[in-house]
Order: sequence, then structure tokens, then C-alpha cells
Amino acid sequence: MNQLLHNMNPQQKEAILTTEGPLLVMAGAGSGKTRVLTHRIAYLMSEKQVSPYNILAITFTNKAAREMKERVEKLIGERGKDVWISTFHSMCVRILRRDIDLIGYDLNFGILDDADQLSVIKTVMEDLNLDPKRQSPKYFLSQISNAKNELKSPRDLSKEFENEDVIRVYERYQQILFKNNRVDFDDLLVLTVHLFEKHPEVLTFYQNKFQYIHIDEYQDTNNAQYQIVSLLAQKFRNICVVGDSDQSIYSWRGANIENILSFEHDYPDAKVVLLEQNYRSKQMILNAANDVIQNNSGRLDKRLWSDRGEGNQIEYYRALDGDVEATYIADKISYMRRDSYDYHDFAILYRTNSQSRAIEQAFLRQNIPYRLIGGQSYFKRKEIKDLMAYLRLICNPDDDLSFKRIVNEPKRGIGAASIEKLTQFANEAELSLMASIDEVDNGIARATLNKFIDFKQMIYMLRSQIEAYSIAEFIDLVLRQTGYLEMLENENTIEADSRIDNLGEFQSMATQFEEVDLNEILAEEESEERADELSTMTKLVILLNDLMLQTDTETEEEANESKVTLMTIHAAKGLEFPVVFICGFEDGIFPLHSALEQGGDELEEERRLAYVAITRAEDILFITNAQSRYQYGRRSANRESMFIHEISDKYLNKTGIETRSKRPSFTLQEALDNRSPKKTIQTITLTTDSSWKSGDKVLHDSFGEGVVVGVKGEIVSIAFSSPHGIKKLMGSHPALKKR
Ligand code: ATP
Ligand code: MG
Repeated sequence: MNQLLHNMNPQQKEAILTTEGPLLVMAGAGSGKTRVLTHRIAYLMSEKQVSPYNILAITFTNKAAREMKERVEKLIGERGKDVWISTFHSMCVRILRRDIDLIGYDLNFGILDDADQLSVIKTVMEDLNLDPKRQSPKYFLSQISNAKNELKSPRDLSKEFENEDVIRVYERYQQILFKNNRVDFDDLLVLTVHLFEKHPEVLTFYQNKFQYIHIDEYQDTNNAQYQIVSLLAQKFRNICVVGDSDQSIYSWRGANIENILSFEHDYPDAKVVLLEQNYRSKQMILNAANDVIQNNSGRLDKRLWSDRGEGNQIEYYRALDGDVEATYIADKISYMRRDSYDYHDFAILYRTNSQSRAIEQAFLRQNIPYRLIGGQSYFKRKEIKDLMAYLRLICNPDDDLSFKRIVNEPKRGIGAASIEKLTQFANEAELSLMASIDEVDNGIARATLNKFIDFKQMIYMLRSQIEAYSIAEFIDLVLRQTGYLEMLENENTIEADSRIDNLGEFQSMATQFEEVDLNEILAEEESEERADELSTMTKLVILLNDLMLQTDTETEEEANESKVTLMTIHAAKGLEFPVVFICGFEDGIFPLHSALEQGGDELEEERRLAYVAITRAEDILFITNAQSRYQYGRRSANRESMFIHEISDKYLNKTGIETRSKRPSFTLQEALDNRSPKKTIQTITLTTDSSWKSGDKVLHDSFGEGVVVGVKGEIVSIAFSSPHGIKKLMGSHPALKKR
């Protein structure tokens, strides 16, 4: 029997062997859906002689794509590298990079991140005299995003939507993006569909290229993604989708569960394979998952089972407050690590990003190494965004958004009023800001105009030199010539030094990209080009867009480092860990308030999220919560999550303060005694050599309110609220005050 089919159950084998025609694999968590996909890809190549260039696999996150690539390579060797395995968004970037000029954009287009999107919306609202207090910029952004996910243009909306403002904002927003040659994340999908529809020759090219299509997590595709898949699969119809309707958790971002439910309708000749056995978790964990999910209506009743053994009851711990909860988790990890587990075997899952802070504090106190997934992204740091704006402007001088960001960064004596004047002129003359510099005649002072001219000359000088350098060398040149590096060096603070370090890290990444990653990308595209034949500018544009899509910057090595993983449940989709902690299991946090109030679909989605969280655990599952905690700056008391009451008592080992079931539990005093003893010790030792001590409340000019979590000499570690996280600062820094 073929090696690839060895160790597969009969249904899994069937899914792997059904290589031709439409195929749907519907199955619960941990039943081997993703494993079927990787083996099927390897099988196509080794047994069916399918070229790797003719295979496409789409996963939900970059992390999942990276893992799938590794697994395919392990199964099939080097040739596995040539299979396109990516997320929808990365696939679209690659398609657009070759042909976006056919639909009017420049090939050097840049991607806009969410913070940039928001600032464009704010500008649009100002232009249109819309009051942000009446309708928030975020509201418009989400309306636009929804429309795009449904492939609706402003004109389509005007046919059905009553809110005129949304249509006007959408229209103007889109014009600004187009003028700046920028696209947002949703545009990547929308524009790919446009490209396919308007240019059938491009579609045909990709239809012939992707003769075998695989989509993981199909239950979470939105309508634009659905359309892309349908178009690509039209010709060969070899499409294999896998998913689990109980794990649909992205409807708030436009995912449409109907896509998977109507697969058999879309492809009447589809073969459907159901997988039943779970290979991931102990039975007790599956019992809890089954108990919770069965409360959702309108689902096929399927109960997960496993022969990995019964396992222990789920550890349910109700803490007195958020601090005690975090300490409990840290204590358990320290303890269990002495036995048989390593740090990377643990994951802490929470409903919202802001919950990570309390856990981080406890981990820092107890020296537990951790990795935060999806916290403040490296690419959102100011210095990185500034550098990227310089690079973008050099590649595309008409990019007004980048222009505005750095024209006076470092300070060049160009004030907001002058930029405003230039903008007015540019709008009237329908020119970009850069192009307006030579033309402007609306009374900008001569001295200021000269500063603009110097700036323009500097950018064009850099632009003319780029081809003489590698990307990393060029970045060095940019940082020096623009005075950016000098500005940081002169600042002479720890913060500025760490910014310089970050910029250095960016350069190393660019080198790695140029020397290794780029060749892999080009190989996958079956492109004639080799990295060293591309111009530096082209390479830079590819790099910038590639980076925008990375939600985490974790490298392969980092992923294997021995650290505890902290992430939201949404980010944990598809992953598995020997020991999982789900924290903040409280009404109002999980499920969220709004879901509790709304009930219905929203509550059912929260329940699916609970099901996803529980089924990440292989051996041991902890569920924790706290009777009271600080939320939004004040103490609030929360009831236990309604979902805990859906799990049968016989699967739970309840500890901590008294819970509704009146099981033996800690008394209040015991729980209080249980509070981190280490914290007290730290406070005492640290007060001796510094005016700061752990627990002090601070106010920082830029990061807002925070709490001191450690002091070492002059350096104070302070936990600020999301997205800032923990920062190490000089205790004497003037931006820092006691509250
Ligand atoms: P999810 O719904 O969470 O994405 P999944 O259905 O994709 O889960 P996989 O991640 O593919 O499940 O598999 C879960 C675990 O079970 C993996 O560790 C996988 O290697 C293992 N597994 C799957 N099938 C088998 C099998 N036939 N024999 C042994 N182990 C298996
Ligand atoms: Mg999976």
C-alpha cells in the first residue's frame, strides 16, 4: 500500500483517492481534514504525476499555510516547494502583481493597512462634512468592507441601501485609494474577481494553471472568495473543499456558512466524505465540546469520538479576581513543566486581545517565556511604518498617503498648514502632492516652498539610485539620507534605541527576503524570472506587499522555540496543543455582552467559538474565569459563562471559589492566600533601589495608563493596555508619571 495512505482510515483514504471531480469533506474538529489535504496534494504529485505547478491549496492563516508547506515538503521532498499554498489574500496579491495594470492600477500598487484605512476615512468624512460623533469612521469602514465582501460597488449599494452617507464615503474612499495606487485588503479579492471577469484570458491562464484546487476551512469563506474559487474551478472542476459548519466563526467579517452548505447544490456531482473519528483529543475533552455545541439549532447532530483514551476531567477554576486567575495559570504551567510538558505545549486562548495583559504580567513575574500572536504587529510600529512610507513614496511618488506621513518626519519645518495648502492646490489641479510642488501658486511662502522642493529632490535622488543597491543597502541609504536615523540617534533614549534596533531587524528581513524567500515565491509562480534578474524597485514592491499580509512575523525557528503561546480563539483555528487554557470564561466576555443581549445567530457564533476553543486541546483542558476583574479601567463582577453550565458536571473538576454547583471549593480566604506570593517579594526587594515598584500605577504621554510589573535598576517594565503591551522604559523618562 502506498506510504501516503498508510495510517489513514477508510474515509480518509477515499478522500485522498478521489482526485477527479468536486469533493466535499465535512467533518468535526480534529478528524484529519487538513491532514487529508496535505496527503492528497502529495498523492497527486507522486502517484498521479500531477505537476506541482498545477496544484493550488488555500488555507486560512499565514501560519496554517506555512505549516501545510512544511508538511507537504516532508511528504514529497523539495518539489513540494513549487505548490501554491497560501491564503486567499496572498494568492490575490500574486495574481494582481502580474496583471493589475489591465484594470487601471499601476503594477507598483501598495496595500493599505487598517490604521491607514481609518485615516483615509477620516479625511473623506471631513471633506463631506460628516460628524464623526454621529457616525463613527469605524462604522463606515465596516460597511464598506461588508459591501466589498459581497462584491458590491457604491452603485450597487445605491440601488438597495438607504444610508446615502455610506455610499458617498465609499465612493470617495475608493477614488482616493485609486488615485494613490493603493488597495485595501478587501480590494485584493474584489479586484481579482474584476480582473477575471473583464479579462477572460487571465482567468483562462489561472484555470489551466490550477487544475487541482484545495480549500481548507471552507465554512469561513466570504462571497468574494467563493466567487474566486468558482471561477477558478469552472474549467477542470477538480475542487476539494474541507470544513466543519460547527466551526464557522468569521461571519462578522462576511464569512457565509451557506457556501459550504450549498456545495452539493453548486456541484451536483460532488462526492461527499464524512469523517467521524477524532485523532486529536482525549474523549473527556470531546464530551465537553459535544455538550456545548449540541445547544445550537439547525445543525446535523454529530458527536465526536476518539480512541485516544478517556483522559482527565476538565479543570474548571473560578478565581476571586483576574490577578488570581492569571497567577493560577502561571502556577499550573510552572508545575506541569516540571513533569512531562515543555513550554511550547501550552496555549492560552482568550476571546479578546485585551485579555492577554493580565496573563502577560503573571508570566513575567514567574519568568515564563511566551509568544503573543496577533498583538501589536511589528509592522504597525511607528518607525517601521515611516520607513515603509519612504520606500513606497520612492517607488511611487504619487502616493499622497505616504507623502503626508513622512514629509515632515524628521522635522523639516513643514507645518500642517502648508501641507493643507499644497493639498488644496493638488485637489483643484487634480495632481498628486509631489507633482504639485512645481506648480503650486496659491500663496505658500517661498521659504516653505523651498523646503518642499528640497524634499522632492531628495526623494527623486534616492529613486534614481535604487538600482545600484540591494534592498537592504538601499534601506540603509534611505535612513541616512532622509535624516531619519540621525533623528533617532540624537534622541538618545532607550525607546529611540529600540526603534533603531527594529529598523535594523527590518534590514535583516529584507536581506533574507531578497536572498531566499523571493526565489521561492517566483518558483511557485512558475515564473521565468529569477530574483537576481528583477530590478530592485520591483523586488521592493513585492516585499512591501508581502509584509503587509503578514499578520505575525514569526519565523519557522521562532515557531519552534520553547514558549507558551498566547492568542485569541479566532487565531487558534486549525491548531492543536497538548495543554490548553481557556480564560475569562465569563458572561459578558465569552460570550460577549452584545451576543448575550442579541441571542440568536450571534450567540450561536459565540458557541461555535467555544467549540473551536475546546477542541484545540489534545490531553488536558483548563477553563478559568474570575468573579471580578478590571475591565475598561473599573472593577466589574461577571457571572460564570453560560457555556460552562452546558457542560455536564461529570466532565468537570471544579475548584477555586464557590461556584453555583456547590462542589467542594476554596474558601474566600484560601483564595486570597493563594494570590501570587512572588509579587509581594518582588515589591519589597525592588523598592530599595528605585522610586518605582511593581504595582505602581503610571500615566505615559503616548501609551496612556499602565501598571509597573518589574523594575531592574533604572529600567521599569510597564504593562500598558492593548495594543501597546509591555514596555521597558527609563524610570526617569519625563513622559512617565505616577498616577
Ligand atoms: P480542525 O477542524 O481543528 O482543523 P482537522 O480536521 O483539520 O481539525 P487535523 O488537524 O488534520 O484535523 O488532524 C488532527 C490531528 O489528528 C493531527 O495531529 C493529525 O496528524 C492527526 N490525525 C489525523 N488523521 C489521523 C490518522 N488517520 N492517524 C493518526 N493521526 C491522525
Ligand atoms: Mg484543519
